[in-house]
Order: sequence, then C-alpha cells, then structure tokens
Amino acid sequence: MRDLRISVTDRCNFRCIYCMPREVFGDDHAFLPRGELLSFEEITRVARRFVALGVRKIRITGGEPLLRKDVDRLVGMLAELGVELTLTTNGVLLPKLAHRLKAAGLNRVTVSLDALDDTTFRRMNDADFPVARVLEGIAAAQDAGLGPIKVNMVVKRGTNDHDIESMAAHFRHSGHILRFIEFMDVGASNGWKMDEVLPSREVIARIDRLFPLEAIDPNYEGEVAERWRYKDGAGEIGVISSVTQAFCSTCTRIRLSTEGKLYTCLFAQGGHDLRALLRGATPEAQLDGRLDAAIAAVWRQREDRYSEIRTAATPAARKIEMSYIGG
Ligand code: SAM
Ligand code: SF4
Repeated sequence: MRDLRISVTDRCNFRCIYCMPREVFGDDHAFLPRGELLSFEEITRVARRFVALGVRKIRITGGEPLLRKDVDRLVGMLAELGVELTLTTNGVLLPKLAHRLKAAGLNRVTVSLDALDDTTFRRMNDADFPVARVLEGIAAAQDAGLGPIKVNMVVKRGTNDHDIESMAAHFRHSGHILRFIEFMDVGASNGWKMDEVLPSREVIARIDRLFPLEAIDPNYEGEVAERWRYKDGAGEIGVISSVTQAFCSTCTRIRLSTEGKLYTCLFAQGGHDLRALLRGATPEAQLDGRLDAAIAAVWRQREDRYSEIRTAATPAARKIEMSYIGG
C-alpha cells in the first residue's frame, strides 16, 4: 500500500460523458449533503495513519477537487505529512487557485483534457467549457511551479480519438507529460462498450507513425502508466491500459471516498466505512490504533483483480461511480 487517493467532493462543474453523464447526474441529482463529507481534520487524521502504514504518495481528487471550499487549507494540512502530494483536476479553476495551492505545499497537478478541438471537447465535457479554459489552467499551474504537469486524455473511440495526433503534437516540447487513458467501465452509468475502447497499443502506433517513439522504464514498481519517449528528444508520453493490459497484480493503490469509505479497487462494489469509526464512541487515545487495525485488515483481505477478470458481462455489475471515488 503506497498510494492513497482521497476524494474530497462528489460534485463537478463538468459532465464528462464517460464519468458523469447528464442523464444520470442532472439538475435534480442528489449529491452528498455537507455533513456526510469528511472534514479536513478527519481526512488528515486518516491520511496520517496511512502514512504511518506505508503510504508514500497522496493524490487529492473528486468530483472536481477545486470545488471543495478552502481546498488549499486541506493541502496545507496534508503537506505536513511529508509525502508527495498531488491533485487531479479538470483545470478550469487553476488560474484562480494554482499559486495558493503551491504556497500551501502541493507538489504537482494532473490536468484532464480530452481534446484540442473545441467542438469535440465540449461534446466530451458536456458543460460547454472551451479548450482555452483548460489550457489557461495548465499555464497557471506551470507558472506556479506545479510541474512536471501530467495531462490526462481519456480516449473514446469514435468520439475523440481523431484528436490523438493533434494532442501529441501540441504537447511535444512542452515539458508536460501527456497520458492516454483507455475508456473504462467504471460505475454503472457511462454506457461503456468494449468497442469504444481504443487499445493503448493503437494509440502508440498512431503517434509513432508521425513522431517515432521508444519505450522507457517505469519510474517505480507498480506505476500504472507505461512510459514512452520521442526519439527526437521532444519529451515523454504515457499510456494507461486498464482494459487491455490489466495491472492489478502490481497495484499499490487505496482510495478514500468523500464520505470516508475505503475502497481497494476502482471497480469495487462496496467500501469499508471509516467514518463510523472516526465519529463513533472510541476513546480518543485508542482511535489511531483502531484506525490502523481497520486499514490493515482491509488491505490484507483485498483480493481485487477486476481488470484481469473483466468480461463483457461484468460492466453490468453495480459499481461505484468514478466521480465519487476519483480515479
Ligand atoms: N475532476 C477531476 C478531473 O477530471 O481530472 C478529477 C476526478 S476525475 C474522476 C479523475 C480522472 O478520471 C480524470 O482524468 C478522468 O478523465 C478520469 N476518468 C473518469 N471517468 C473515466 C472513465 N470512464 N474511463 C477512464 N478514465 C476516466
Ligand atoms: Fe468531472 Fe473529472 Fe468526472 Fe469530468 S472526469 S465529470 S471533470 S469528475
């Protein structure tokens, strides 16, 4: 267990068609009430236990994490734990917040951007946000020193795959690391179909034809992105192939949901409630020990290998939504 991902809100200003489709997350959708969310103090308390148990990297995510009020205060609290601290965002609030986040102790950001073509991007985010807003966010993060920035593109065959080459061309020489993510069957609402997954090996082949690539070694064991670099020195890209090349066997990730449930897999059907323990009657002096025991028990019992055993029938299972667990 090395990598903790904390979801700080289930709300989002985007309605990405692969994550929060408008038909399901419409105006009348009931998001979590405020009292259900873990407070910053609760999140930090739990995160501190994870660090004591071996976690070396924390990622703040959501929903859109920059929508959580005063998220920079949480960043400041988590930064004190002394491990690598990153955040994944759709980018549009970065011009307002990037410098504050850096000052609070955030190390890096990952920004999601699914197309360079405006019409395609608006179709993907389904909330009428133009590409320019995200590019401004990336520039603000760069200016604040939140690099090296990773840019995530979810590839949905037939919707945005025509933009793969232009995304590659745009981010070459930028110092940012563009990563292509296979469209995944997370949640139960995104209408996932296998034939809309473009295998990463095809992404690599298409880019290689224009800009020759060579594979490079992972940064660390358990890294989910496979790394490639341009032979002409223009930088690095990555592919995340959860569907076509499962990496369950080396997974070191654990996820804390917005309301304090622990999930050992992105495709899990159920979580383990830590909030009940946090808000229960355990005497203060015993709480850290009880949290450690609960976390260790969950991790030791995990048997997740969803991506290895995925079949055409599994997407029908009732799984948690990506906007709730944060990717
Ligand atoms: N709102 C932030 C953002 O979009 O970066 C953080 C949360 S979002 C759930 C985290 C990542 O999950 C994003 O890069 C997003 O593109 C990715 N994602 C969401 N749904 C996905 C799906 N069905 N398949 C693959 N990636 C997905
Ligand atoms: Fe929001 Fe991120 Fe999901 Fe898009 S991928 S709807 S930006 S949480």
